[in-house]
Amino acid sequence: MNVAELGLLRQGGENVLVCPACGGDCIHQIETVVVMRKRESEAEPLRVHVDRAGISTAFASEKATRRDVTRIRFRCEDCPHLSCLEIVQHKGQTFVSMTQETK
Ligand SMILES: [Zn+2]
Repeated sequence: MNVAELGLLRQGGENVLVCPACGGDCIHQIETVVVMRKRESEAEPLRVHVDRAGISTAFASEKATRRDVTRIRFRCEDCPHLSCLEIVQHKGQTFVSMTQETK
C-alpha cells in the first residue's frame, strides 16, 4: 500500500475523486469501515463495516489507536488498482489521505 496524491477533478461544479494510479474518474465504493469511540480514552472502539454483503458491527479487536477513522475503499473502472480514502480525526484535527493498493 502506497500513500498517494489525493486527486480531485472539478466537473460541473462538483469535486470528483480520481484513481491515484491512473487518474481515472470512475472509481466505485466497495467497502466502508468506521472506527469510532465514545471518548478518547475508550479502549475498544466500535467498528462498523459496510459492503455489498451487508453491515457488521463489533468492538475493534485490533490494537486501538486514539483516533477515529473512516476508510472508504474503491475499485477503478480503468485499471486493476484498489484505493482507499482515509479520514482520521485526532485532537480536533481532521487528516485526509489516499492510499493505493494492487489488486
Ligand atoms: Zn485506475
